[in-house]
Amino acid sequence: MKKIAILGSTGSIGTQTLEIVRENPDLRVEGLAAGSNTALMEKQIREFLPKTAVMWEEEAARDLRSRIGDLPVRVLCGMDGLLELAAEDGYEVLVTAIVGMIGIRPTIAAIESGKTIALANKETLVTAGHLIMPLAARHGVSILPVDSEHSAVFQSMNGERREQVSRIWLTASGGPFRGKTRQELASMTAADALKHPNWSMGRKITVDSATLVNKALEVMEARWLFDVGLDRIEVLVHPQSIIHSMVEYVDGAVIAQLGMPDMKLPIQYALFYPDRRPMAGKRADFFELGRLTFERPDRETFRGLELGMRAAEAGGSMPTVFNAANERSVALFLEGRIGFLQIAELIEACMGHHKNRENPDVDQILQAEAETYAYVEEMLARMG
Ligand code: NAD
Ligand code: MG
Repeated sequence: MKKIAILGSTGSIGTQTLEIVRENPDLRVEGLAAGSNTALMEKQIREFLPKTAVMWEEEAARDLRSRIGDLPVRVLCGMDGLLELAAEDGYEVLVTAIVGMIGIRPTIAAIESGKTIALANKETLVTAGHLIMPLAARHGVSILPVDSEHSAVFQSMNGERREQVSRIWLTASGGPFRGKTRQELASMTAADALKHPNWSMGRKITVDSATLVNKALEVMEARWLFDVGLDRIEVLVHPQSIIHSMVEYVDGAVIAQLGMPDMKLPIQYALFYPDRRPMAGKRADFFELGRLTFERPDRETFRGLELGMRAAEAGGSMPTVFNAANERSVALFLEGRIGFLQIAELIEACMGHHKNRENPDVDQILQAEAETYAYVEEMLARMG
C-alpha cells in the first residue's frame, strides 16, 4: 500500500490524481488540501476517507467541518494547515498540485519530513529551486516531475548519465494563439485564451500556455530538476503534442518520450516510479497521426517567453518577480481588467522596477513577491 497526500485536490491535476487512486487499489489517500471548493472536497472526503483535510479559507474550513461532522477527519486551514499536512507522518508521497508560490513552504516542510515529492507546482521550483533542490538532496528525498515535459525528460534519462546530456529539447504546443500577429493578440479575450488545442488544464496554466509564459517557467523548472545550464535547454514548438520532450546526448543520440497528451500518464508515472502500471486510454497511432511537425518559437510576438528567459538568466529574485507579476496579471486578465498583451507589459515593468537579489532565502522570495504585487497595483492605479 502506497500512501499519498494531495495539495490542490479539487483542481485539474488533483482530480486526475484521484482518478488514478480510484483505478489502483494499492494507493491510499491520507490527506487532501484545496482552496475554497467545499462541495467537491466533501465528495472527495466521503470517497477517499483521508485522515486530514485542509481548506485555505477559514470560512471554507468551518463549512467543511459542518458538512462532514459524521466523519473522523481532521479539518485544518490556512498556511498552518498546509504546513501541518505537509509535515504529518503516515504517508510517503506528497503531490503538489496547488497553483502558485503558495506551494513553496509546504514543499519545504514535506521535504524536511522525508516525503517524496510528486511535483506539479512548477512555480515552487521557478522561484525557490536554488533552495529546494539542495534541501531535497540533503534529506535524500526524490523530486519526481509531474509536468508532462519534465516527466518526458526524466523518462528519457533512465539509465543514462546526466553528465552526458548535451541538450534538452523542451516541446511546446504553441498554445491556442500560435501563428497570430501582435495585432490579432491585442483583442484576444479570456474565453479565447482558455481554449487550449491539446491539453485540458487549470485556468492559470492555460493562459500561461497562450502567452508562452508557461514554457519559460518550464525552462526554469527543467534547469533545477535536471541541473543543466540554460544554454542547453531548447524550446521547440511541436503543435501535435505527441513528443513530450527529448534529450540529446554527447554522441548525438536523441531519446524522447511520446504518447497521447494525457496528464494521467506523468502523474501515474511519478506515483509508481520506477514501476509502470497499465493505463486505459487512447494510444498514439502513428498511421493515423501521419506526421509530426516542428517550429521555432516566435519570441517577438510572444514576449512572455523572451521575458522569462531574461528572468532565468538574471537568476536571484528575478524569476520570482517574473512569476509573481505573471500570476497577478493573469488573474487581472481573467477578470477582464487588462488585455492579453498587457500581461507581458506588466511583467516587463515589474522586472524593470526590481533590484535583483542574489540567492534569496524564502522570506526574501516572499518579500519580492509582495513587492511585485504592490507594484502591479500601483501601475493599475496609474493606468486608471
Ligand atoms: P487548478 O487551478 O485546476 O487547481 C489548483 C488547485 O489548488 C485547486 O484544488 C485549488 O483549490 C487549490 N488551491 C489554490 N490555491 C490554494 C491555496 N491557497 N491553498 C490550498 N489550495 C489551493 O490548477 P492545475 O491546472 O491543476 O495546476 C496545478 C499546478 O500544476 C500548477 O502549478 C500548474 O502549473 C501545474 N501543472 C498543471 C498541469 C495541468 O495539466 N493542469 C500540467 C502541468 C503542470
Ligand atoms: Mg508542461
